[in-house]
Amino acid sequence: MKLWYTEKQTPNLGLSCKVKETLYFVQTKYQEIAVLDTIQFGRMLVLDGMVQTTAADEFVYHEMISHVPLATHPSPSNVLIIGGGDGGAVREAAKYPQVEKITLVEIDSQVIEAAKRFLPEISSALDDSRVKIKIVDGIEYIRSRQNAYDVIIVDSTEPVGPAVGLFGSPFYEEVFRALKTDGIFVAQTESPFFNADLIRTVFRRIKSIFPHTYLYLASVPTYPSGLWSFTLGSKKYSPLQPEGKDIPSGTRYYTAQVHQSSFSLPRFVQELIEE
Ligand code: SAM
Repeated sequence: MKLWYTEKQTPNLGLSCKVKETLYFVQTKYQEIAVLDTIQFGRMLVLDGMVQTTAADEFVYHEMISHVPLATHPSPSNVLIIGGGDGGAVREAAKYPQVEKITLVEIDSQVIEAAKRFLPEISSALDDSRVKIKIVDGIEYIRSRQNAYDVIIVDSTEPVGPAVGLFGSPFYEEVFRALKTDGIFVAQTESPFFNADLIRTVFRRIKSIFPHTYLYLASVPTYPSGLWSFTLGSKKYSPLQPEGKDIPSGTRYYTAQVHQSSFSLPRFVQELIEE
C-alpha cells in the first residue's frame, strides 16, 4: 500500500513523505498528536498536522537551540525549557556537567508520553535526575519567577493555539524578569522565507527588552523552507564571543565554528532585523 503524509507548509506548498506506518494518533485537549514512521526521515512527531521533529534531522534543531545559549553562558547551572515535550532540548542541556537543574514546562503531558514511548533517542534524558517536569502553560509558569534562571529556551510550536502568547512582548518581559542578571534566552522563530513578518516583529520585541539581541540560522530539512531561525536575547554575554568552555562531545551539527557562522546572516535575513 502506498501511504503518504503531506504537511501543507503554506497554502501553496507541501512536504510529502511516504509512510510505513502510523504508530500513534490522539486528539488531546490541546492538539492532535501523531507519530508516523516514514521511510525518508524515520519516526516523525506531528502536532496539528505540522512536523515537530524527526529521527533523521532532530539533531540540527535540538543542538542549535540548546548549545548556542549554553556554550555562550560561562556557568549555566539552572535551565528552563518551555515547550519541548519531545525531550530533545533537555537531552542536549543534560550534556553539560555545569547544568544542575533543568525544568521542562510543557502544556501537554501527552506529547511527553508519546515521545517517551515512540521517540526514545530524543526523550532519553527526561528521566535524568536533574530534570523536573511541570505540566502547565509556560506563560503562567513564568509569571511567578524572578532572577532564577541562567538560560531559558523556548522550544515552542508554531504561533498558533496555546503557543501564541509565547511570541508576545508580555511573555518576553516575564522571561527577562525570570532570568538572572547575566541570563540568556533563546526562542525558535520560524523560517526567514515564509515567516518574515514574524521574525521582524519578534526581533523588535526582544530587542526592546534585552540589551543584546541576535538572530541565528540552521538548516532543518523537514521545516518549512529548510532554513530556520532562532532569536537570542542576552543580558550580558555576547554569543559572538562564547565562553570557550568544553563543548559536549558527540554533537552532529553544532561545532564552535558552526556556532560563529550561524550568526552570519544572508542579506535578505539581515534586512529583516535592521531598523
Ligand atoms: N521543535 C519544534 C518545532 O519548532 O516544530 C517544537 C517541538 S515541541 C514538541 C513544542 C511543544 O510546545 C509542544 O509539545 C506543545 O505542546 C508545547 N507548547 C505549546 N504552547 C505551550 C505553552 N504555552 N506552554 C508550554 N508548552 C507549550
